[in-house]
Amino acid sequence: MTDSSFTSDDHTHDDESDGDKLKLTDFDVEDTLGTGTFGKVLLVRYKKATNQPDALKFFALKVLRKTEIIKLRQVEHVKAEKFLLSRVRHPFIVDLYATFQDHLNVYMLLSYIPGGELFSHLRRAKRFTPDVTRFYLATIVLALKYLHSLNIVYRDLKPENLLLDSRGYLRLTDFGFAKYVEDRTYTLCGTPEYLAPEVIQSHGHGKAVDWWACGILTYEMLVGYPPFFDETAFGIYEKILRGRIHWPRDIDPLSRSIVCELLHPDLTKRLGNMNGGVSDVMNHPWFRGVDWDALERCEIRAPLIPYVAGMDDTRNYTSERRMPSPRNIPGMFEDFEPLPPPDPFDSTALEFLDF
Ligand code: AMP
Repeated sequence: MTDSSFTSDDHTHDDESDGDKLKLTDFDVEDTLGTGTFGKVLLVRYKKATNQPDALKFFALKVLRKTEIIKLRQVEHVKAEKFLLSRVRHPFIVDLYATFQDHLNVYMLLSYIPGGELFSHLRRAKRFTPDVTRFYLATIVLALKYLHSLNIVYRDLKPENLLLDSRGYLRLTDFGFAKYVEDRTYTLCGTPEYLAPEVIQSHGHGKAVDWWACGILTYEMLVGYPPFFDETAFGIYEKILRGRIHWPRDIDPLSRSIVCELLHPDLTKRLGNMNGGVSDVMNHPWFRGVDWDALERCEIRAPLIPYVAGMDDTRNYTSERRMPSPRNIPGMFEDFEPLPPPDPFDSTALEFLDF
């Protein structure tokens, strides 16, 4: 980044003069890219970056409304998102350049990933071949390997949070549920279809939930819909705990086997969570032939190169703009664990002053 003001931590230092801080008026809003649970993601142009290449001019600005964050009791999650995202750097994870706030919102300035959600590409294609699925899953395995090595559990893996960059490589976005976990944690969060049994049963959970979600994602890519599906969140939880997976006939045995190993309800037998850790996943016969080093250097041609006319092109985000993902509707968990009534004067609200 050539502009020295674009470092995430610089904007939280106490001794910083107000003049250095980013503010909303430093940007022109070009378009809406997506709608999250308590805010929006906008495509913005940094006004001062007149002579910069487009990649340093256009950004995705995640705008989170403070009143909604407090009402939905998400203060800790938002702070964790900023803390963790500003500390990770990986080719398959979105870059956070800066954070700032005003009296209404908190803002996260992210690299703009122009290829759209894996979700929309999957829905358009209906399902992916095992080769296409393998490419995407392999990049996710490398991203999880990196995050888990830092004791970060991602906890919200799903095709809506996987964006395609201009080369067709995936970038993980939305660290709203990510957590630094050395052992186990107990909060119920995530997206119903992707929750592991130990999360639903509140037995305490850790890195293994990300491997479970990899199993759900692999099934969804190969088959076109998630393995445990129902009208209500409660119905989905019942099916996850029952654990019966229906397989269309044309899914090959090796693909079935990696999915079933990732979806093992017993944590001690789940692929990725045993003694060999991530290398058990990488050495699974389903991944035979994958050149992991070349993949991490982005030297392998992606199966789908999205059409992008320029770094301000938003054509790949048309369907995501207005509606939050149906799997992300606030209150989705309320029939399972009722939230206490919101307290608008909750003292944690003041902690936003640190953002
Ligand atoms: P989030 O609230 O982080 O889940 O973001 C909501 C939606 O905004 C995502 O599902 C994407 O459609 C879009 N979005 C988020 N981050 C970016 C980004 N860095 N570049 C492009 N679109 C994004």
